[in-house]
Amino acid sequence: MTDATAKDLLGDPLEAAPLRTAYVLLPIPADRPYSYAVPAGMDVQPGDYVQVPLGPRKVASVVWDAPVGDNGVDPKKLRAIETKFDCPPVPEDMRRFVDWIAHYTIAPPGMVLKSLLRTPAALDPEQPMPGIAFTGDWPDRMSDARGRVRGLIEADTKQLWTKSGLANAAGTSSSVVDGLVKAGTFAPRDIPPQPIVPPPMPKQAGKPLNEDQQEAADALVEAVKADEYSTHLIDGITGSGKTEVYFEAIAAALNAGKQVLVLLPEIALTATFLDRFEARFGAPPAPWHSGITPRQREKIWRQVAEGTVRVVVGARSALFLPFAELGLVVVDEEHDQAYKQEDRVFYSARDMAVVRARLGGFACVLASATPSVETRVNADTGRYIRLRLDRRHGAAVLPKLSTIDMRENPPPRGRFVSPVLEEEMRQSTARGEQSLLFLNRRGYAPLTLCRVCGFRFECRNCSAWLVEHRFRGQLQCHHCGHSEPTPEACTNCGTLDHLVACGPGVERLAEEVDAIFPEARIIVLSSDMLGGVSRLRLELEAIADGQADIVIGTQLVAKGHNFPKMTVVGVVDADLGLANGDPRAAERTFQLLSQVTGRAGRAGGESKGLLQTYAPDHPVIKAIVSGDREAFYEREIALRKSAGLPPFARLVSLIISGTDKRETERHAMDLKLAAPFMEDVFLLGPAEAPIAQVRGRWRWRLLVHAPRALDVQTYIRDWLAKGPKERGNIRVQVDVDPQSFL
Ligand code: ADP
Ligand code: ZN
Repeated sequence: MTDATAKDLLGDPLEAAPLRTAYVLLPIPADRPYSYAVPAGMDVQPGDYVQVPLGPRKVASVVWDAPVGDNGVDPKKLRAIETKFDCPPVPEDMRRFVDWIAHYTIAPPGMVLKSLLRTPAALDPEQPMPGIAFTGDWPDRMSDARGRVRGLIEADTKQLWTKSGLANAAGTSSSVVDGLVKAGTFAPRDIPPQPIVPPPMPKQAGKPLNEDQQEAADALVEAVKADEYSTHLIDGITGSGKTEVYFEAIAAALNAGKQVLVLLPEIALTATFLDRFEARFGAPPAPWHSGITPRQREKIWRQVAEGTVRVVVGARSALFLPFAELGLVVVDEEHDQAYKQEDRVFYSARDMAVVRARLGGFACVLASATPSVETRVNADTGRYIRLRLDRRHGAAVLPKLSTIDMRENPPPRGRFVSPVLEEEMRQSTARGEQSLLFLNRRGYAPLTLCRVCGFRFECRNCSAWLVEHRFRGQLQCHHCGHSEPTPEACTNCGTLDHLVACGPGVERLAEEVDAIFPEARIIVLSSDMLGGVSRLRLELEAIADGQADIVIGTQLVAKGHNFPKMTVVGVVDADLGLANGDPRAAERTFQLLSQVTGRAGRAGGESKGLLQTYAPDHPVIKAIVSGDREAFYEREIALRKSAGLPPFARLVSLIISGTDKRETERHAMDLKLAAPFMEDVFLLGPAEAPIAQVRGRWRWRLLVHAPRALDVQTYIRDWLAKGPKERGNIRVQVDVDPQSFL
């Protein structure tokens, strides 16, 4: 305990009593906090991190607020809290945030808490390192080596050193340093833990902003200064300077003494973002994503809790960092699907960022060139404030977009690049510029079949085709990761050498391009590339640096990168995303293709985006080509409204899965029969999921369609409580506001 309060001095009658009860939320799938006894002499408050026994285990947990209407259990019958960690407590707004997510997503609060407790080692304070400090006295006998130490020390007599660090810096052996310690020149002194990043310098000026940018930045700065909840949408075309604008909001929050969280999709790949941030603020932000080491993770978590780290840039899980003084959250590329977590707790990090800001009473900023329809509607209804940036900064202009009608300009048999696109690439290469071919398909070919018997190679665990990865000589399932060597003979009829690859993946496209442009430097980018994230990062830098003529990539290349030399972007199959039955197919296609073509022409000069399509008259393709974003949103919003789709209604998916097909189906049926009747609530299904089997588990889906005004969470909780219990290995997962319908 640190500060003595009046209560401590006067004595608290409860503390004087032998035992008290505390409610402790454990990171386990329980519906409510458990009661524990507080041992005499221990003082715990809601938010404190404690260790409690659970069966034979000891579990790091958090003291929670007393449940409403709970009369408590006799503490004598309870097991006791074992220890209280020396760690800043979970702030009140963060506790409400955990409760809120649990309620909204229909997840046990303990499972949400688990995201906060992912680094239990950080609950203990960082340990200082043993070091030495100069005392001011040199011994009478000075050797050469001692002289070198003296030369070093006199530059800064206050600096703390580790013994080995000093010996290294002075170029002496460690015995020389030991000798000086013995002689009293240095005394032992702990070196306090070092900040993982230096403090940012928000006072230094950013880039001079153009008029539109300044107007938007002013609005954000005001919102931050207001120190109350608000959500702004920066709705600005690719390259309009959205990042420069929200940097000003970050500066304002830092100047007000607040911490800042920036969420980015694909954070591991955004080295350029970190560089830009450092150029603006004189120090990099602390990163938070799956690629950082456990040691770094602990340090960052702890320093966020203590307030040493002021800015975190992270993936969606950064929402669960224990910020002590959060005052701004920015969600860049807010439309991105990577913000949806579909595992354990199903939540949208974008929506939860807004909730976090509301509960904490501070500003939230969403940014996108292609906002989600949900966000656009929220802006139209005034729930969010929309700031528009309609021009690219400086000389840069948007690429000229057009379609290539594949019925009129088909590629040669077995190839996928039409002669029109090929010619554009040829010219771009001749001018010393770059072109990009976009195809959202990893591997060589999405389907392999036997020409003799027609057999199709499918995953043995999933209802999905195996994707050929020729470079690795494997057939791979993109749903469960199963892979097997590509066979030479058909597994069905045994015929040798009659297997054919159907359709293109990026590997196959690379083969084709290599044959057409044998001289060109080609880079293929996809998430399953050998070498992982660090290799990808290098490749992205190489592209930005002009070390490639032609880039072939999946959606990885669509996201936020700046490629100054890129002047031609070809979309190999613009119809790909439109074909599936997903209610968001149009929106996704619009977003993805706008982002991809937006890679072109970011440094000025003319540039082109070409969409290969069999349906040039499709409204989505037309909207992209005409550049009429407003028309697209208007039409899409009207469609959603008339069809009663989100955001004009609420959807909830229930996914029932199990290893026995029959039993899983029966459970899904029983569950449906148990649904309470309620006017305006419609249940669809159960239907076999489009991917009926994943990782050996059969999947059935129920879709709940409810009016927005209804408390759908309470409805579903009641339903699940009286419905059939999960038995055997059958599981029911709830996905509120589903993004995926597979
Ligand atoms: P967006 O996030 O909207 O795609 P960025 O913020 O990445 O746009 O800006 C695109 C490019 O234009 C970047 O290289 C950025 O540094 C540059 N830029 C934007 N605004 C300015 C400005 N006011 N002054 C100088 N450069 C700018
Ligand atoms: Zn599989």
